[in-house]
Amino acid sequence: MALRCFGEEELSNLREVLESGELWRGARGNFVPRFEEAIGNHTGRRYVQAVNSGTSANEGAVAGLGLEPGDEVICPATVPIFVSFPVFAAGCIPVFADVNPRTLIISPEGIEACISERTKAVVVVHLFGQPAPMDDIFQVARKHNLKVVEDCAQAYDCYYKGKKAGTFGDVACFSLQQSKHITCGEGGFVATDDPEIYKRANMYSNSGMPWFLYGLEAPKTNPVSKIPTRGHFSFGHDHRMSEIQGAVALAQLAKIDQFNSARKEIVKIIESELQDCPGIMLAHKHPDHVPNYWVYPIQLNPDETSLTAVEVSRFCREEQGIGVGCYGEINYLEQIYQDMENSGKTPFGLPLPEYVHYRPGLCPKAEDAAMRTLTIVTHHSADPENIRKQAQALRKTMEKHI
Ligand SMILES: *Cc1c(COP(=O)(O)O)cnc(C)c1O
Repeated sequence: MALRCFGEEELSNLREVLESGELWRGARGNFVPRFEEAIGNHTGRRYVQAVNSGTSANEGAVAGLGLEPGDEVICPATVPIFVSFPVFAAGCIPVFADVNPRTLIISPEGIEACISERTKAVVVVHLFGQPAPMDDIFQVARKHNLKVVEDCAQAYDCYYKGKKAGTFGDVACFSLQQSKHITCGEGGFVATDDPEIYKRANMYSNSGMPWFLYGLEAPKTNPVSKIPTRGHFSFGHDHRMSEIQGAVALAQLAKIDQFNSARKEIVKIIESELQDCPGIMLAHKHPDHVPNYWVYPIQLNPDETSLTAVEVSRFCREEQGIGVGCYGEINYLEQIYQDMENSGKTPFGLPLPEYVHYRPGLCPKAEDAAMRTLTIVTHHSADPENIRKQAQALRKTMEKHI
């Protein structure tokens, strides 16, 4: 039986918000500050800034670093665009690094290969809920004096060497979007131990108003007019989390252990159904890493098959009647470039300086591995029997096509 995600806990908090008449955080925020405190305890970070989306959290985290326009920030080549857009938002330049082909996680060598004198930071994504190898990454980061952002949007409660993902970097960002481990529909938060990063992230997310009852600087009275200024001390957006989001997020956080256990049961089904299935490799295991899968990554073994993930996914759907997810973003990009080449047009849609680009060939390991990566949902609300059928469809497909 699938687990129900929302219930009385969320409803009762939402009722409280509506009855209070205060739906925004404003001066008397209730649920949002309570969520910040609770998630700070849960993630093990001193300062938390709750915001209205995961992308806003990525923006707040990058803004928190206080980089200069034109600074370069290294991003993995195999992650959603929400990771590199926030780098642009800070006036900085994303540079795409190659990954460990087994996990699609940014590799220390990939980072090293992207270093220039303008490189100031790296965004590490704990992709699919697999913890990144933080020791090796920090070795490179320290050598080149890079700030480290941990993107934990897909990685609640994962551990690297016994320490939670999200507690290693200068700052971490999380998403509370519908598909993530816990959700309030849209939402996110920035978590850090550094008061300066917190302050910048806080101002950025709140239209530059640091006094906004977050325990920071009070607005100064204008010496000429004698009128207190509102205090927009920096550039920023209104990325504040609403009380409605906070009410749901707080109730969800109380259920996270229950959700995580349901996910682990689903992973057991996937792994037992696909044990020894021809042509595939189950998720990479490492004794130092405790994953908490957002989706379960499966890779096609290039020694056994030349099928791509897109092809396998299509066979599953057409022949077994059940689709399996695939990771074809780069494949798709390749198609776009192919089309442009065939039509004799020069590439467009990259309104960037010459040296900022992502083209096929730049990160060969990422491209190859992405084309061989399939995913099965591990969401706590998924019906375990449907997951079993998906895994069985994949097994039958592989047995037939190998
Ligand atoms: C979901 C996600 C984000 C952005 O979160 P939204 O809440 O969807 O804006 C950022 N990074 C990664 C790795 C994600 O999976």
